[in-house]
Formats: sequence, structure tokens, C-alpha cells
Amino acid sequence: MKEKIHPNYNEAKVVCGCGNTFMTGSIKKELRVDVCSKCHPFFTGQQRTGAARGRIEKFNKRYGQEG
Ligand SMILES: [Zn+2]
Repeated sequence: MKEKIHPNYNEAKVVCGCGNTFMTGSIKKELRVDVCSKCHPFFTGQQRTGAARGRIEKFNKRYGQEG
């Protein structure tokens, strides 16, 4: 018998602006993001600005560790 972690916790499909999609845990069923690990400069090694760095931190805060 499985125990649910949270009643409203689902697998959410995340759709990135680059066209990439991936799954994550969320209370929402679908999420949209501007950047992901496939296209973000932080991961691709093409980091250019501090603003971009702030965006990935925001991304992680929203979709990363929580849950
Ligand atoms: Zn992307």
C-alpha cells in the first residue's frame, strides 16, 4: 500500500521556452519556464551575465529543492 507524500503533489510536465520538456514534482500539472538545464547558460557553459545567474537561482528556488 502506497503512501502519498502530499495529497496535491503530482508529476508536473515542465515546458521550457527552448522547446525542451521534462518532469518534476509540483502541485501543478504543467509548468512553463524560460530556461532549463538544457538551454540555460549556467549549464551550457555560456554564462554571460549576472542576470542569467539570478534567473537560474530563481528557477532552482521554484522548481528545484522543494518537495
Ligand atoms: Zn530550455
